Amino acid sequence: MTGVTTLPDRRLLLVHAHPDDESIGTGSTMAHYAATGAHVTLVTCTLGEEGEIHVPALAQLAADQADQLGGYRIAELDAACAALGVTDHRFLGGAGRYRDSGMMGLPTNEHPRAFWQADLDEAAGYLLEVIREIRPQVMVTYDENGFYGHPDHIQAHRVAMRAYDLAAAEGIAPAKVYWTAMPLSVLAAGMDQFVESSDNPFAGIEDVSELPFATPDEQIAARIDATDQHAAKQAALRAHATQIPPTSWLYTIAGSFGGEFMGVEYYTLAKGEKGPGSGPYGWEDDLFAGIADLGPDRAPAAAAGLR
Ligand SMILES: [Zn+2]
Repeated sequence: MTGVTTLPDRRLLLVHAHPDDESIGTGSTMAHYAATGAHVTLVTCTLGEEGEIHVPALAQLAADQADQLGGYRIAELDAACAALGVTDHRFLGGAGRYRDSGMMGLPTNEHPRAFWQADLDEAAGYLLEVIREIRPQVMVTYDENGFYGHPDHIQAHRVAMRAYDLAAAEGIAPAKVYWTAMPLSVLAAGMDQFVESSDNPFAGIEDVSELPFATPDEQIAARIDATDQHAAKQAALRAHATQIPPTSWLYTIAGSFGGEFMGVEYYTLAKGEKGPGSGPYGWEDDLFAGIADLGPDRAPAAAAGLR
């Protein structure tokens, strides 16, 4: 490693569960910060071995056949990161250390390497190593429910928050931690638009507040408008072809709403102090808003005294 002194002043760390989560949930944010000179580090916790395969020619990669989907998805993630302009990507504990646990309640949850079975301190220790090296001011992960309840997303949340505590004990915690979120008002607008859609993510939902990830607008802390990066996000989504079929509602969103729906992402603030914002709820437009100690000197000076 070349050391933290060579890193840009603003450093953003994202902790995601599977390849494709980074693009679906935070792709525009990542592309925005990479394009504006921040250092963007993505840590992905599993290889996504248990994912469905939407490319028929690759069906035999599946977990119950060749069980090679995870390796294939490393290449998909590489391509997605390239589309987002993100060059620093790691797998938690190294590629394959933790396996995709599959949906909640499935026997795959019990696999010895399943991320759901991970020892929290061990897994958080791997993330702490990244925090020590990069010294991010901002970390992004999911809420306690993992945004929508997948065990690996819940575990990613737990590992990230444990790593935050371990980093705090060393005096190197990120200044802010954000969780991905969707404002109720945005979901309500989206639900109306999808009524006629064949792949309707809201099918069977009568009220958007029933959705596990629906967040009251007043609880949102940041709205990152990376509309100018929506094409990069779409390219990253297309890189995950085994997971996201061309008929996906994600592309319907892009078609119906244009760049804004694809390019704007929202967050709640879990740790740190909210910076200045605007609008009725004071939403920040920058994850680094209000952070005073940005700069290259902070990391090496403090890190020198660490074990
Ligand atoms: Zn996922």
